[in-house]
Amino acid sequence: MRVIIAGGGPAGFVVARTMVDRGHEVVLLEKRAVPGGKVSAWRDEDGDWIESGLHVFFGAYHHLLGFLERYGLGDTFNWKPAEMIFASERHGLAGIRFVPWLPTPLNGLAGVAGFKPLSWGDKLRMGLGLMRPIFGDQRYVDQQDDESYASWHLRHGMGQRSLDEVMHTMALALNFQPADRVSAKLALTAMLHFAHEKEAPRMALVKGSPDTNIWRPLIAQIEARGGRVELGRKVVAIKHDAAANQVTGFALEDGEMITGDVYVSAMPVHSLRKVLPESLRQFAYFDNLKHLKGSPVITMQLFFDRQIAGVDNLLFSAGTHLSVYADMAMVAPEYHRGGKSIMQFVVAPAEELIKLPDDELVRVVMEEFVRLHPNARSARLLKHTIVRIPNSVYQALPGVDKYRPDQASPVPNLFLAGDFTRQHFLASIEGATISAEQCVARIEEALARGAIAPAGAAITVD
Ligand SMILES: Cc1cc2nc3c(=O)[nH]c(=O)nc-3n(C[C@H](O)[C@H](O)[C@H](O)COP(=O)(O)OP(=O)(O)OC[C@H]3O[C@@H](n4cnc5c(N)ncnc54)[C@H](O)[C@@H]3O)c2cc1C
Repeated sequence: MRVIIAGGGPAGFVVARTMVDRGHEVVLLEKRAVPGGKVSAWRDEDGDWIESGLHVFFGAYHHLLGFLERYGLGDTFNWKPAEMIFASERHGLAGIRFVPWLPTPLNGLAGVAGFKPLSWGDKLRMGLGLMRPIFGDQRYVDQQDDESYASWHLRHGMGQRSLDEVMHTMALALNFQPADRVSAKLALTAMLHFAHEKEAPRMALVKGSPDTNIWRPLIAQIEARGGRVELGRKVVAIKHDAAANQVTGFALEDGEMITGDVYVSAMPVHSLRKVLPESLRQFAYFDNLKHLKGSPVITMQLFFDRQIAGVDNLLFSAGTHLSVYADMAMVAPEYHRGGKSIMQFVVAPAEELIKLPDDELVRVVMEEFVRLHPNARSARLLKHTIVRIPNSVYQALPGVDKYRPDQASPVPNLFLAGDFTRQHFLASIEGATISAEQCVARIEEALARGAIAPAGAAITVD
């Protein structure tokens, strides 16, 4: 069977690699010249790596870690201790350190108890409030989708300070939106994993660039098995035969039509909406995608003439736009430049900042960074890189979860993959991997019941 996949981000690659493994002919079409989607990396004119985003991989990413292990890429990461280090002007650096020798959930509760910026009253209230995710399950968490996390947090008596110092930052790190904009389900899902799995809060970064460590090896594997990964190939329309309710091809920007037996969109939701024909927009399934909007975010790298933060882990900050950041030269020494800091920031919320010119944006980020790390004041900024992503992961606003589509569409030979599709995890690389695995399972179910047949053959639609 010939499978055509649009979108070469994590979801597209997981579908492609898995389908090749199952003996299918695969063509993966990616509009950009670089693979990996929001987890892509490329070199600038000086040979420095630029990443579309600072990417952290958690011990809770069982599907992604399993996938990489299966295809010989298990040794991709530098693992860091399970500790969330917060930088603030008032408290300097303070960490929530998951105590490795304690069982869950005590390892995390002990971490909260040791977190200096909170008073003992705050810690006690937080511990009591966290009993819900500790003793709850995914069903309980799913039911909290209509409420904002901030409202849920205050309603459970945890207080404003822990919201401002911890949970607001966590919401920004997870969805690039503040805690009063995201649904309670988003943050509670992360907490549920942390509360139940000892390995979940372990964090890792790719050893060097995801391009050389993940995407290029996967391309080589797919192509060695007869598949094709075509970069710089933008899908501009999904061709749909409304009478037969079948997709008949993906039309490319250069006028070519790519045809197959099964079609997968692994494009993000805003890109998918652009290529849907009128006949597909009629379906509530596709019309509901209008409720899913991308979060704006900015990735900035600042190259300094000396080492600054001195922390070999991620840093979170409360009350700035530097929601998560790291010194790449420390956390991934493969990027090392002789001990000089390469600070990479996830800048959010970015609704307003994304409109600023580069020099103004650098000024804002530097100003906040110097407040958190005063020794940066005397350092010389050698260069900066900026990547603006106006539509990144979908905004997990209260009440939108019900609009996320299943991977099987109402068109028997069209399937969706991508972190925004329905799966139990967050909008993340793990979520994209789960969506892709579910997409493959839906295709196989459809094949087994005869709902898909090679183009031109008779089709049974139940
Ligand atoms: C700054 C930033 C930091 C992040 N940090 C983390 C993190 O630490 N941990 C984590 O788990 N997740 C993180 N994420 C989220 C993670 O990157 C996404 O959840 C993941 O990349 C989603 O994968 P995907 O395959 O669904 O979509 P994408 O990665 O968006 O891939 C979709 C692909 O489709 C392609 N495409 C779009 N339109 C077309 C078209 N018309 N034709 C052909 N191809 C097309 C795109 O170019 C892209 O390559 C971060 C995201 C950002 C932006």
